[in-house]
Amino acid sequence: MSPVESPVKPFIIPVFIPHAGCPHQCVFCNQKAITRSEVQAPSTPLIEASIRSYLNYLTPNRKPVQIAFFGGNFLGIDRREILRLLNAATPFVHEGVVDGIRFSTRPDTLTKDRLEILREFPVSTIEIGAQSMNDAILALCRRGHTAGHTACAAQLAKAGGYEVGIQMMVGLPGDNDAGAISTGQQIAALNPDFVRIYPAVVLEHSPLANWYRKGQYTPLSLSAGVSLVKRLYLMFQESNIAVIRMGLQATADLENGSILLAGPFHPAFGHLVFAEIYRDRVIELLKTSGSALEAVTLRVNPKRISAMRGLKNENIHYLKNRFHIRRINVTGDPLMPDHHIALVMDSHGGESHRCDRMIMHGK
Ligand code: SF4
Repeated sequence: MSPVESPVKPFIIPVFIPHAGCPHQCVFCNQKAITRSEVQAPSTPLIEASIRSYLNYLTPNRKPVQIAFFGGNFLGIDRREILRLLNAATPFVHEGVVDGIRFSTRPDTLTKDRLEILREFPVSTIEIGAQSMNDAILALCRRGHTAGHTACAAQLAKAGGYEVGIQMMVGLPGDNDAGAISTGQQIAALNPDFVRIYPAVVLEHSPLANWYRKGQYTPLSLSAGVSLVKRLYLMFQESNIAVIRMGLQATADLENGSILLAGPFHPAFGHLVFAEIYRDRVIELLKTSGSALEAVTLRVNPKRISAMRGLKNENIHYLKNRFHIRRINVTGDPLMPDHHIALVMDSHGGESHRCDRMIMHGK
């Protein structure tokens, strides 16, 4: 089960360090545009004030509490600066109000020497930005590292006892569905504790924006992005690897379109993925029904009603049209196990038929 669905959710206190420690310019990236910040890393007083302010919103059901350095390449930062950032965050762990520290970093900067810097600090989680496991695509995206770096980084971090997350992207220049699935399989083989899946979008002021304007790059459509991420999600579920995020975090800049030129951004991307999984399972069941249907009742656990209906009832409209069903009711049943669905089909002749199906494994 992903943390999005878990009854106990982690509470992440983000500290953005846009482009800090990153001499690169990956073609799809414009961290400054995403975070609306020109500074590389905030001052220590600013970090402390920001953490305290986030802690005001902490509720008892949020666990673990982690301070997260995101948006740059943490282990690529100058050693003294890494120490400054960790020293700003660590007292909150010692106070007992925060459980640990996490950060994201490029795979080629995750080395034994750099891990050594962390030894005295309460770092619990490391996220590795893999993006692709195909060296040709990594080169095209100007990532400046290889898939081999990602494999080594994951091994080193796991051997160091850290919780390890891996980030991958779909829709990268030169990539396709088969390539993304292959990347997912290679990441699963590294056995991370969790993954994040981001669709590539075209951000203003990124190199990809030029390629897009010249017609040299076409992003995935939203529907193609959702379908591909759905396949990856189900594959990671099969491997018992949690998917903690699908789609870019919604920000005001992304939502108002000021930095987003094109691409499969949607503020509820993960919800669209779940809705498609639910729709697929109902299609499988309805295909076996054989006869014309008067009405269908879809019974799910109450917290899955919106996934079953889809955004703006899209699943209902789709199923009605495709299977010529007059009425579809979605009912929440607290006795239904999570991720299960029961269908009751009423045919024109007055017969009723029920079948149950597990939607997906509930990791
Ligand atoms: S390594 Fe990360 S922060 Fe640096 S340019 Fe690439 S995506 Fe952006």
